[in-house]
Amino acid sequence: MHTDRAGGSEPSRAGAAPDTLDVDRSDPEYRAWLKEAVRRVKADANRSADTHLLHFPLPDSWEIDLYLKDESTHPTGSLKHRLARSLFLYGLCNGWIRPGRPVIEASSGSTAVSEAYFAALVGVPFIAVMPRTTSPEKTRLIEFHGGRCHSVDDPRTVYEVSARLAAETGGHYMDQFTYAERATDWRGNNNIAQSIYQQLERERYPEPAWIVATAGTGGTSATIARYVRYMQYDTRVCVPDPENSCFFDGWVSGDPGAVSDCGSRIEGIGRPRMEPSFLACAVDRMMKVPDAASIAAVRALEQAMGRRAGGSTGTGLWSALRIVAEMLSEGRTGSVVTLMCDPGDRYLDKYYSDAWLADQGLDIRPHAAAISTFLTTGGWAA
Ligand SMILES: *Cc1c(COP(=O)(O)O)cnc(C)c1O
Repeated sequence: MHTDRAGGSEPSRAGAAPDTLDVDRSDPEYRAWLKEAVRRVKADANRSADTHLLHFPLPDSWEIDLYLKDESTHPTGSLKHRLARSLFLYGLCNGWIRPGRPVIEASSGSTAVSEAYFAALVGVPFIAVMPRTTSPEKTRLIEFHGGRCHSVDDPRTVYEVSARLAAETGGHYMDQFTYAERATDWRGNNNIAQSIYQQLERERYPEPAWIVATAGTGGTSATIARYVRYMQYDTRVCVPDPENSCFFDGWVSGDPGAVSDCGSRIEGIGRPRMEPSFLACAVDRMMKVPDAASIAAVRALEQAMGRRAGGSTGTGLWSALRIVAEMLSEGRTGSVVTLMCDPGDRYLDKYYSDAWLADQGLDIRPHAAAISTFLTTGGWAA
């Protein structure tokens, strides 16, 4: 039923700030602000080019093509640029983001970097709530874009701290972990999946056998999986999961209450709870990847392609290489796509630091040897 009153309230959700209807949504000044904010976000998309689909070199005789979708080339350096754009449009068009009111986000960093950029673009304050272990480079980037950082010691508390800050400031808790899957246009509109298929059109295997996508919010894997089904493709979607994440266990057991008791070492992916945006039913396969293997793989990427990326790119690449190994041993040809999620220069004192590896007790040598043996012989040592 239609009720004739100004405004409209936010659907209720745990920990959400009470929606004070202190902005009259039909006020011409607010509507002019809103139009201009939406224009600026859409104009940013209009100025942006597509991200490259890069070819990872494999021996010709294998007749298997491996690609990486390079999401590090977005204006804010990661695949979270897509998400932040979608969340801002969703929040603006829902009437949730208001002039002069801060946007608050719980983040392991990349989303906050991109959201700080969009907050500055539309002219609202931004506060990121992040685990204290987040790399300093991300904090620097958030502050560079004019955002504020609020660190917490226990990564499991980012949600409640964000909701509390929103309540205290009258701001909007963006809540990527709830809204990522629905803020993105999964049927198309140049989402990451549609872009991948368009870029594969002239390849010898245009419909990939597998797309590998890691999960933080789960939004990217949800968008890809839904698009695959919507377009009636045969592609399957694999989500590799790092240590200290509950996604794998929750997916296997079908338990939405699965938890893990500490944060992921691979920034951007792996969560301590089953996030609402992680759509387990849409995922065809999951793989648990040791953190040392993720880091060995991202270093192998530099050797193979001369590019540095973040740890989650290594998690995806390790999983993609294992799938290529399976296809090879079964005598199958085809293509596999994985993602380059963000650049390595954010993590020089982490994944690219031998001192950090030693401090974490991570030995990447056996995994590095497995990759190099595979790429030269085609055999995968178990
Ligand atoms: C967020 C993130 C991912 C995973 O993407 P989701 O869509 O949130 O599941 C992977 N890598 C990095 C670096 C990220 O920041």
